[in-house]
Amino acid sequence: MRNVIILGSGCAGNTAAIYTARAGLKPLLLMGHEPGGQLSLTTDVENFPGFPEGINGPDLVENMKKQAEKFGAECEWGTVSEADLSGKHFRVKVEGEWIHTRTLIIATGASARWLGLPNEHKLIGHGVSSCATCDGAFYKERKIMVIGGGDSAMEEANFLTRFGSEVTLVHRRDQFRASKIMLDRARANPKIKFMTNTVVENVYDVSKNLVTGVRLRNTKSNEAWDQEVDGFFLAIGHIPNTKVFKGQIETDAEGYIISKGGARTNITGVFHAGDVQDRTYRQAITASGAGCMAAIEAERFLEAEGH
Ligand code: NAP
Repeated sequence: MRNVIILGSGCAGNTAAIYTARAGLKPLLLMGHEPGGQLSLTTDVENFPGFPEGINGPDLVENMKKQAEKFGAECEWGTVSEADLSGKHFRVKVEGEWIHTRTLIIATGASARWLGLPNEHKLIGHGVSSCATCDGAFYKERKIMVIGGGDSAMEEANFLTRFGSEVTLVHRRDQFRASKIMLDRARANPKIKFMTNTVVENVYDVSKNLVTGVRLRNTKSNEAWDQEVDGFFLAIGHIPNTKVFKGQIETDAEGYIISKGGARTNITGVFHAGDVQDRTYRQAITASGAGCMAAIEAERFLEAEGH
């Protein structure tokens, strides 16, 4: 029987591991299917406090893991395939084996939705990004493209006009899911060019390890063409990683965990941390803060239970 199992190895999970390990709870952290979380998909992080020169994303998250291990956290590879949250204690199945725990911290994050283009994944961190806040500043006076028709796409396109020489917003339809106010704001921005009824067929250039352009197609005319691009930003939504808890933990319609205050979920002893609950801020620093909150809640819960 474990005191604490933490699911997820992004900023939220690792920070929860640092705090619970330092409190002597010997947490087990299961790293999940995207070890390091969203930070492992970026290059330089310039807005995490404490690093005036910036820090490489994967290095930052690896440092957190080392810090947690220093205090006795066990970080193991593995993804939960099943979970049972019905009893007083909880159990999760990893690689075919059930592990039991008194508290569970769910820090499984939300994975960015990708287009599934042939070269897309090879160019992540080299021009392909799913986070304008993280990577926008690298595209000063460069050509930027944003994909999507929701609020995120509008927000990111507007934000990216601070940096880019031009921002093209590409959307597969001519109707927008975005709220009127966000759409109007983007439309009023002279640096944003809208390109509707357009899909992306590929992104180049893997041989240069850098985004240099994209292949586009107009869905009405079927015309296809190449366009030069330096920064290619996807804003087509995120998918919270809560599938294994479906029907057990309270989520909203899209699968984000509903907070019951602090880091609490509807199940006593099960806590949330990071993007798995947060659809608004989604920053490394807010995820770390949430991991700290979940750890403190778990610690207090165990103490009250006499462990
Ligand atoms: P979203 O509302 O689900 O929009 C996703 C967009 O991506 C849609 O326009 C969709 O196109 C497009 N898309 C999805 N899959 C695609 C694919 N395979 N190829 C091309 N396009 C694709 O997601 P979101 O914009 O991230 O917003 C999520 C939630 O957060 C919303 O509730 C939103 O209001 C909220 N949010 C609020 C703010 C704010 O108020 N400041 C900012 C950001 C997000 P279709 O329309 O054709 O399906």
